[in-house]
Amino acid sequence: PNQHLDVTTFISSQPHRGETAFVDAVTGRRLGFSELWLGVERVASRLHALGVRKGDVVIILSPNSILFPVVSLSVMSLGAVITTANPINTPGEISNQIEDSRPVLAFTTRNLVSKLPSSNDLPVVLMDDSRAASSFSRAKIVGSLEAMMETELSESSRAKQRVSQDDTAALLYSSGTTGTSKGVMLTHRNLIALVQAYRARFGLEKRTVCTIPMCHVFSFAGFATSLIALGWTIVVLPKFEMNQLLSAVEIHRPSHLSLVPPMLVAMVNGAREINSKYDLSSLRTVVVGGAPLSREVTEKFVERYSGVRVLQGYGLTETTAVVASMFSEEETERYGSSGLLAPDVEAKIVDPDTGRVFGVDQTGEFWVRSPTVMKGYYNNEEATASTIDSEGWLMTGDLCYIDSEGFVFVVDRLKELIKCNGYQVAPAELEALLLAHREIADAAVIPIPDMKAGQYPMAYIVRTAGSNLSESEIMSFVAKQVSPYKRIRKVTFLASIPKNPSGKILRRELIKLTTSKL
Ligand code: ATP
Repeated sequence: PNQHLDVTTFISSQPHRGETAFVDAVTGRRLGFSELWLGVERVASRLHALGVRKGDVVIILSPNSILFPVVSLSVMSLGAVITTANPINTPGEISNQIEDSRPVLAFTTRNLVSKLPSSNDLPVVLMDDSRAASSFSRAKIVGSLEAMMETELSESSRAKQRVSQDDTAALLYSSGTTGTSKGVMLTHRNLIALVQAYRARFGLEKRTVCTIPMCHVFSFAGFATSLIALGWTIVVLPKFEMNQLLSAVEIHRPSHLSLVPPMLVAMVNGAREINSKYDLSSLRTVVVGGAPLSREVTEKFVERYSGVRVLQGYGLTETTAVVASMFSEEETERYGSSGLLAPDVEAKIVDPDTGRVFGVDQTGEFWVRSPTVMKGYYNNEEATASTIDSEGWLMTGDLCYIDSEGFVFVVDRLKELIKCNGYQVAPAELEALLLAHREIADAAVIPIPDMKAGQYPMAYIVRTAGSNLSESEIMSFVAKQVSPYKRIRKVTFLASIPKNPSGKILRRELIKLTTSKL
């Protein structure tokens, strides 16, 4: 595509015959494609009138909403940069993001405005209230989104600056699972390349439900950009709640769902009576990504929801979401695999110690090169240089192997391996084993320090309702299936496992919990 095309113009010019772009699952409000694009144009012109220019950062702090994409597409159409804050983050975390990204304007909701730092005078546009502006003394409210969407366009406000595809369009903060969160610069080219990959993979004009937070790359680059280009109808839930999701499936009859692994686990563990109350017969495929999903959970899901295929996907914020995924229904038989490389993605498996390139079926660090690889980390050249090499290869930090037919298998994150007596143990492998037990609803494995072994694996376990499974039963269940160095040496029971929005286990929290008890 044209070097000077911004992602919003690219998406709005894609041919499809879809009518409804978004439906609010709670209120039933619909946003047609023509209404969406008119809204985007009007909001962009209001933003321009408010002084937002190319390169300026605008922050959005909002739960999922049909208006979220109106905001992000408007900002990107001006060549300005959208940064998304997670509504579940603390005011301190949000304030760090603001400190790092220095936005000129914020979009947020009545309930969340108090999470913005009170000390700076960041102008705020309210996304869900056109009247209440005066009741917020702390924040500097400069308008309401609804009013912006209704304001007629004036000729003078249309002037736009030239946008290059290599300009940053979105600044998405990585989840910070393994340390502090970093600002990932995604360009117009990155987001446009992803649309092409989605087109090859998903096809036009289908219907789906969005429950994954739009602030996260999987949802942002999927629901709030690529799927719009393909003319899909997206039913939006403010957040994941199982009954609400199942009821939305019954009412709106989507063929397709995208979930993160804990949602799948919840659907597997949910009472059969509840699930069977709903008519889910429209469902054909469920795409799952963002964290490891074991073969065991997939099998339980497929048994429970017969006729539904589970397609796994793998990606990072740094790769504009998807770098590998299952494309066709036949591929879903490869449980445990994250599918084939997306179009235009090159990959290699590298020995993290020597830099040697490995062959088929050998496990090493996964490196990728593709038009979806980020421009770099914002304000952090050092981290960029240690993540992308001079030839454009991104080192993912994930241990993977690729089989002879090109299927990618993610073993675990390099940083999370447990080092026991000189061996390396992947927590994800032990978690998958544990989840196969009938009386285990959820599991997390973490390292515990040991004078002799260095570290050894321990497990946090959530038992199914009514189960009396004991620590020794769990340890011998695992011991029977693994080499001695992988055996679990301690079990602690919990009511739930702490996870982040993309479904990753917050191991740091569990490690803190463990060390505080030692
Ligand atoms: P930070 O880098 O700040 O610690 P993060 O890596 O958790 O944050 P994300 O970009 O949301 O932030 O997550 C990307 C990571 O998610 C991948 O590197 C990988 O470890 C994991 N992941 C994603 N999809 C899968 C999958 N299908 N199977 C296993 N792991 C996955």
